[in-house]
Amino acid sequence: MKIIMLGAPGAGKGTQAKKIAEQYGIPHVSTGDIFRSNIKEGTELGRKAKEYIDQGALVPDGLTIGMLMDRIQNEDCKNGYVLDGFPRTIPQAESLKEALSERGQKIDFAIDVDVADENIINRMAGRRACISCGATYHLVYNPSKVPGICDVCGAELILRDDDKPETVKKRLSVYHDQTKPLIEYYGKTGVLVNVDGTQDLNKVFADIISILGA
Ligand code: ADP
Ligand code: AMP
Repeated sequence: MKIIMLGAPGAGKGTQAKKIAEQYGIPHVSTGDIFRSNIKEGTELGRKAKEYIDQGALVPDGLTIGMLMDRIQNEDCKNGYVLDGFPRTIPQAESLKEALSERGQKIDFAIDVDVADENIINRMAGRRACISCGATYHLVYNPSKVPGICDVCGAELILRDDDKPETVKKRLSVYHDQTKPLIEYYGKTGVLVNVDGTQDLNKVFADIISILGA
């Protein structure tokens, strides 16, 4: 099964993508996570990507598309994957479509996790991310067992620089300009499904499972 998560930054794409990946035994592929691990390792790609990420801008397609295509050619992706944060532009979606159709494949579901802008700033201000494994929490809605410490690996939890309110506002405007048109794009291909992302995260997941089938 090949799934794309759509929705604003902070809508809950990563939270749901991890649960879907676990439920269906497919990898969770997050371009944001791949960029952040490149930044941590100090690679050339990470150095270039950081300039854009810190400003709340999109990393150019020229850097992003090749990186994602390499990732989905890995052996672990042969039975499908859940893409989180890709595609974010129409050219990215077109590149993905072409790469898949060359292999006689297609996207099965594009899940739009719908959350209004008013809720997003609050979501992002409370998001805490693990500096080591990238697991995410929310101070109120999805807290770690020990405050400030990751349940998965025991490392420290931080507020991402790009989750600060001024950067979130910029990211939301980029989302409306460049990424939201993908909802119509996938609507036309008949794979779009919608879930109400303002519900409790377990209810959002239950809605997704009822669409995908258990
Ligand atoms: P995205 O991957 O779309 O940027 P995340 O999955 O990281 O978003 O979620 C953003 C923040 O909101 C996180 O702190 C997460 O714990 C929290 N969150 C996710 N889903 C919900 C929900 N349904 N209700 C409340 N908070 C949520
Ligand atoms: P995320 O973790 O998905 O919120 O992504 C964090 C940041 O990484 C985004 O704000 C962008 O700067 C960058 N990024 C992630 N995925 C993409 C993508 N598909 N295209 C361009 N930039 C991306």
